[in-house]
Amino acid sequence: MAVTATTTLFGFDVIRKGALGDPPPNLPEDGAARAAFDWDAVRAELDGLPAGGLNLAHEAVDRHAAGPLADREALRWLGADDAQRSFTYRDLKRATARFANALEALGVERGTRVFCLLGRVPELYVAALGTLKRGAVFAPLFSAFGPEPIQQRMEIGEGRVLVTSPRLYRRKVAPVRDRLPGLEHVILVPGTEDPIPGDLLGDGVHDWNAVMDAASEDYTIAATDPESLALLHFTSGTTGLPKGAMHVHQAAVHHYATGLYALDFHDHDVFWCTADPGWVTGTSYGILAPLLHGITNVVDEAEFDAERWYRILQEQRVTVWYTAPTAVRMLMKVGADVAKGYDLSRLRFIGSVGEPLNPEAVVWGNETFGMPIHDNWWQTETGGIMIANTRAMDVKPGSMGRPLPGITAGIVAKRDDGGLDVIDDPDVPGELALRPGWPSMFRGYLHREERYRQAFRDGWYLTGDLAKRDADGYFWFVGRADDLIKSAGHLIGPFEVESALIEHPAVAEAGVIGVPDPVAGELVKAFVTLAPGYEASDALKLELIGHGRKKLGPAVAPKMIEIVDALPHTRSGKIMRRLLKARELGLPEGDTSTLENAPGAPKGAAS
Ligand code: AMP
Repeated sequence: MAVTATTTLFGFDVIRKGALGDPPPNLPEDGAARAAFDWDAVRAELDGLPAGGLNLAHEAVDRHAAGPLADREALRWLGADDAQRSFTYRDLKRATARFANALEALGVERGTRVFCLLGRVPELYVAALGTLKRGAVFAPLFSAFGPEPIQQRMEIGEGRVLVTSPRLYRRKVAPVRDRLPGLEHVILVPGTEDPIPGDLLGDGVHDWNAVMDAASEDYTIAATDPESLALLHFTSGTTGLPKGAMHVHQAAVHHYATGLYALDFHDHDVFWCTADPGWVTGTSYGILAPLLHGITNVVDEAEFDAERWYRILQEQRVTVWYTAPTAVRMLMKVGADVAKGYDLSRLRFIGSVGEPLNPEAVVWGNETFGMPIHDNWWQTETGGIMIANTRAMDVKPGSMGRPLPGITAGIVAKRDDGGLDVIDDPDVPGELALRPGWPSMFRGYLHREERYRQAFRDGWYLTGDLAKRDADGYFWFVGRADDLIKSAGHLIGPFEVESALIEHPAVAEAGVIGVPDPVAGELVKAFVTLAPGYEASDALKLELIGHGRKKLGPAVAPKMIEIVDALPHTRSGKIMRRLLKARELGLPEGDTSTLENAPGAPKGAAS
């Protein structure tokens, strides 16, 4: 257990780490491990394929199944109804081999996109790793998405195979199936409550059990180019459709390194990542990193429930826990007393990611669990953790920590001539940028080469986040440089929400922003103007909220609708979300010179 004391520095409490006990942290703070860091040495910790190259599934499963860890528990699944299923590395090897063979039997080639729309059931994990074994590309979708986000992502990603459940298929895929002509095979996973109704099967729709039963449990992974596409994760854009961030098998090196240094994995750890694999954290750390380390990965099917979570931490004897600020704030709301009823003494490390972690939450963690909650920063494009509070570091509550070994981060300002100024002075905000070259870096946005190129300048990758670095090299999140909304850890593109709203006949125009919320960070709020013939009313607002939920699903849909007479536009006709936000929050409106009706704006300029 960490021995910690709190002192004050820069007006913030610093949680100073004392003796950290056993096992010693993988990244001590003497500087030597950072100085000695070398990506090739990390790569040497992985095996590589007998057939040549590097394959994520081989490193995460098969190599352990062939050695002393074969009978170690790889996946411990906790069902929402308290059922429990356990897979050893040997079991996982067999099940994923079956799935790889099943894909092959369906004619799925290497490089084919296999989408998955499932709750956190064991089959999701088998499908992910089996797809990687086949050399196909795994593209997870969040099961709380509505039909529109699903259709858009599958169309962009050219999904040929979809693994889903009968219920999700009927509710979310069937309504858009005619807009997915490239979808050839649907594999339906029967749940305990929803065996597959016969009328769904046939015509490219298969029963998971049937395809798995017919497949052999031996599969030899073909040589895999480490640079070949492995994962496709969608991320929202401020304008236009979501972007498919492409990740390759070489990412295994980064997932392994960050499991070691950012999450401090040790032999025999029991790890629980609360993220859903529909988001990048739930894949990189909810599937891959723990298995690459040969430890036990706990998966909980159920949604957040404070008592349940504490019970899991206690009963499953979780040693390393990776969660998110919204969840921490929900735990705080329930109160520290609830935690006191549980034996959490096995916990050695708590990490958090996805949105700003408020300093109070870090301090609360220290009081409640005897260790701070360690914030870390990364994004879909980086594929893995970049900046982190590691186990041995003194923690400054509110800071994201320092760049991990092998990562160079900087604060930059874009110049008008297309170049960048690197800001070396401490505490000056600018855009957070990274030097490209780490193994899990995205290799492009699918079919959006130009957009990908725009993310780079002067040898830096621009993250779209604003941050500052203090004199000790700690990074502090300031905000997004764009209009993207972070709600309960999910990145939401306002354009996607606006597009769905204007499909309703009553809506003429929509402008969507995030408004602060003490628990979720931000909530999606839409301002709409009405089409002629429609009157504002509470009933209409409710109808629009219902419309949003039906189209987009609860994770993305607006929680609040305000009907307004007009929306602010730029002279070129774009809705000024920034201004909507400033007005909503009572903040200064900033530069409004591009506003359509700004004094001096030429009449009719908004064309
Ligand atoms: P996503 O690509 O959906 O994982 O979202 C990535 C974005 O989430 C980042 O660009 C940040 O805006 C935000 N984010 C992630 N981690 C943190 C953090 N520790 N503190 C503040 N914001 C974060």
